[in-house]
Amino acid sequence: MTVYSRAPLDVSHGIGCRLYATDGRSYLDCVGGIATDALGHCHPLLVTALEAQARRLWHVSNIFRIPEQEALAKRLTDATFADVAFFANSGTEAIECAIKTARRYHYVRGAPDRIDIVGFAGSFHGRTLAAVNASGNATYLEGFGPPMAGFVQCHLDDGAATMAAIAAPTTAAVIVEPVQGEGGARALDGVWLRRVRQACDAAGVLLIYDEVQSGMGRTGRLFAHQWFDDCEPDIMATAKALGGGFPVGACLATSAAAIGMTVGAHGSTFGGNPLAMAVGIAAFDAIADDATLAHAREMATRFTVGLGRLAADYPDLVVDVRGKGLLIGVKLRVNNREMMAALRERGLLVAGGGDNCIRLLPPLIITPEEVDEAVALIAVTFAAWRTRATATAAAAAVAA
Ligand SMILES: *Cc1c(COP(=O)(O)O)cnc(C)c1O
Repeated sequence: MTVYSRAPLDVSHGIGCRLYATDGRSYLDCVGGIATDALGHCHPLLVTALEAQARRLWHVSNIFRIPEQEALAKRLTDATFADVAFFANSGTEAIECAIKTARRYHYVRGAPDRIDIVGFAGSFHGRTLAAVNASGNATYLEGFGPPMAGFVQCHLDDGAATMAAIAAPTTAAVIVEPVQGEGGARALDGVWLRRVRQACDAAGVLLIYDEVQSGMGRTGRLFAHQWFDDCEPDIMATAKALGGGFPVGACLATSAAAIGMTVGAHGSTFGGNPLAMAVGIAAFDAIADDATLAHAREMATRFTVGLGRLAADYPDLVVDVRGKGLLIGVKLRVNNREMMAALRERGLLVAGGGDNCIRLLPPLIITPEEVDEAVALIAVTFAAWRTRATATAAAAAVAA
């Protein structure tokens, strides 16, 4: 189907932060499979884990116990607020489980009318019908029938409406990304998160974090909300970097929040499959390592300094630099898609984002030299852009 707007680049192979095209060109990859290849391409630890599991066992379904699944669940719950985990194959499926968990919680507690999920403008939760309704993005909803009942929209900067929505008697849960990814790398602060946490507690409403993109080391902490105290969620979805590039997602929850998720309430054929779990365990151990997270924080600072300098040098091109850790957004005054193409021509791959941003989501293992290289490539691209813009303006003046 023609649902993707693909860059004209036939990918051949990758190693670390480098991606190679079939025509032999190489690129510095600051897309990282959209914040997924946290350990770069073909990390030896992940290759070894996948190869070993491929020889042992591929798939059995969840009719049987899968020891690797219990091992990864233990790692995730030990490292977070959560007590239990459900494994899916993608971010949007993890979100689906989160929404179902929240509604079911109220159902089994005798409040079946509490079904409303409060979401926020600019959010992205994936592409299932529930996920697009939770995010409320009109573009992603168009043509897919009437908006589904049970989803309410708020604005992140409208505190009064948010508090009122949380306090409403039919509200089941709030769903929010601690750092909005697709929406343009917008980071929430601890004050906002704590205020919502307290309001949820007061109203008996569950708090769901979507850390599909911001989680698994992306911000320099295992999960972005862990930068702040007293704002842990009841339910959290994660995916993307969880498998280091192998498709896997997880919905984590406290035992209390998952009270309705009893036998038969939910399921998946592939979710938690041994291949995904073997890679997930290897990826988790490498990413949750203090040295990896410290490195990610250092590289994030290096990027922030370099890009901050560029923003100061090119106020005609850059509005601001934002985000958290290695989830970096550069909001542009010029068309972000055209800038992405210009950067690609010079050998740097970046992602697009809402609010006319380009996003840098490099592997966490990016080296200082590669950070400097990325910033330098952006600098020469900006310089060429300005020269061209100036020449075009001068030609227009002559023609006039
Ligand atoms: C990517 C993403 C999703 C959806 O994940 P898929 O694996 O594409 O289904 C959900 N939420 C956030 C915040 C994301 O960045």
